Amino acid sequence: MTDKLVIGNWKMHGRHAFNARLVEQLLSSEQVNRSGVALAVPAPYLVSVGELLQGSRLSLAAQDVSRFADDGAYTGEISAGMLADVGCAYVLVGHSERRQYLNEGGEQLRQKLLNAIAAGLTPVYCVGETLAEREAGRHLEVIRDQLSVLEGIDSDAMVVAYEPVWAIGTGRVASLEQIEEIHREIKAECLRRLTGSATILVLYGGSVKAENAMAILSVDNVDGALVGGASLVSESFSVICQAAKKLI
Ligand code: PEP
Repeated sequence: MTDKLVIGNWKMHGRHAFNARLVEQLLSSEQVNRSGVALAVPAPYLVSVGELLQGSRLSLAAQDVSRFADDGAYTGEISAGMLADVGCAYVLVGHSERRQYLNEGGEQLRQKLLNAIAAGLTPVYCVGETLAEREAGRHLEVIRDQLSVLEGIDSDAMVVAYEPVWAIGTGRVASLEQIEEIHREIKAECLRRLTGSATILVLYGGSVKAENAMAILSVDNVDGALVGGASLVSESFSVICQAAKKLI
């Protein structure tokens, strides 16, 4: 059985003092301080959190990467090479908040995936349908369309995070049957679209909490979790990491 991967997405939260306290608490938890756990922190704190993680088993992740492949005159952008240089192992691509507020999609996301892979990062490609799309019965079609950007991509490792938009930060969680159906479809679609023999992990994200982590992580084809709000509270994040560990 593949190790369950747990990634904490801090989103736009954190300050030096808060980060130092949270990381200290996380590192003192043997459930958290293990391989297969990563922290996706805001860009200004990648270096300092990376330093705090030195000597630990946790990995560093970025929340976004530039669509521009090479360094150059792209004010405000952060290249995949820079993320690799400061020690990132993973990078989130296409989180629904960026699709929604920054109009990200399609070819732009494909370029970000390609840049991340070229720099040796493992991309965590986020997909998910809105409530209206789910209620219209269009969820599978929407997910397939979002996955179409993977066509022909050759990568050793690919992580896809299924995050129904209606479950992110809302306290609503997809049912275990809904999660099982979509994860099965995502695996099949990735196998169809990716070339080479990529290791494909499919994470669930959307109001994962200490209370529901074990049930969600036990579903077939759920290879881990992308955790937002609960990753900012060490006790909750530890319980989620523990749930993932028990299943290894
Ligand atoms: C996320 O931001 O990826 C997420 C899943 O958030 P939350 O766990 O807060 O719903």
